[in-house]
Amino acid sequence: MAKTDEQQSGGVDALLAGAVLTVDLAALQANYRLVSSRLSNGATAAAVVKADAYGIGIGPAATALWAAGARDFFVAHADEGVTLRRHLADARIHVLNGAHDGAEEAFREYNLIPALNSLGDAARWRTFCAKVGNPLPCVLHVDTGMCRLGLDRGEFAQVVDDPSLLDGLDIQTVMSHLASADEDSPQNAQQLALFREARAHLPMGRASFANSSGVFLGPDYHFDLARPGVALYGVNPTPGSPNPMAQVIRLKAKILQVRDVDSAETVGYGATHRIAGPSRIATLPVGYADGYLRSLSNRATAYIGDYEAPLVGRVSMDLITIDVTAVPEAQCRPGMAVDLIGPHHTVDDLAAQAGTIGYEILTSLGRRYHRVYAGDTA
Ligand SMILES: *Cc1c(COP(=O)(O)O)cnc(C)c1O
Repeated sequence: MAKTDEQQSGGVDALLAGAVLTVDLAALQANYRLVSSRLSNGATAAAVVKADAYGIGIGPAATALWAAGARDFFVAHADEGVTLRRHLADARIHVLNGAHDGAEEAFREYNLIPALNSLGDAARWRTFCAKVGNPLPCVLHVDTGMCRLGLDRGEFAQVVDDPSLLDGLDIQTVMSHLASADEDSPQNAQQLALFREARAHLPMGRASFANSSGVFLGPDYHFDLARPGVALYGVNPTPGSPNPMAQVIRLKAKILQVRDVDSAETVGYGATHRIAGPSRIATLPVGYADGYLRSLSNRATAYIGDYEAPLVGRVSMDLITIDVTAVPEAQCRPGMAVDLIGPHHTVDDLAAQAGTIGYEILTSLGRRYHRVYAGDTA
């Protein structure tokens, strides 16, 4: 496998893989810069790289984002923070799920910043900091409408009554998380009001509120530190309006077999697609085991050049079948490439066909693809 300076690769060997996933790191960096440029009042953008950077690969993604200027990173699990530390020695790495009982020492060793998601978390972190004689940095998470993690209303009221509950903590960031930022929902303004109230009582450190879509709700939502994730990876943070983000991934499958069918036959498990007239069917080596969701059965579209080829029949574990009757034969032979995600067909398009969201398409991206990381301008 030839590698250029600009290309790192990974996953399955290029020659042996049935499909190639190309990650455009320059597009990722451009997206980080675009989100940063939308921020007002000196706010900066962190980069959320949980779930292996939304499936695209945390090492290459984080390195490219650092080169583009990101200094604050968010992961979900402590374990992801440990992995990230191997790639970025100097980043501020925040762990959204926090430090569970017994994990504190690892947070110190790898210099990870836990989110304190309850008063119990705060008490345990304070005890640990006292034990090691060092008020280690932390994030205080206040719930304003997710009902998931963060101080609930009762705990927030307790802190307002007794601010000493937070003594001995180095709270570098106070954060909350929007529930409906991708919708025109009254909940956004309600959460904003609650977060402002929280900030009035908890003015320490930086305030962090907006996810990707939150950035596009306007300056009121920006505070000091935004936490974009999905937009960096090319998903539209403004559903219903044109996507301002560049596409980051492209997925090409190699045709295994093409067959002419001139009789009335059915395709695939359950015989859910019936061929009406003379047709050509191409079989591709991608299936639900690769994160090509089964709900795409009889719904997805693929592209060969500019030609659209509908997916017919059910998605199997390792194979899909597309109708290539309309594609010139010369462009449709074994070994040739078919775009499953590409310029004509974005992550959002595929998500809509699968009845899901771009987040799930990205984080499901399979391990059997040959991965090419291209275009890092660092
Ligand atoms: C995942 C997550 C983000 C990033 O959200 P996107 O919608 O992907 O931008 C930000 N903050 C928290 C708390 C999250 O869990």
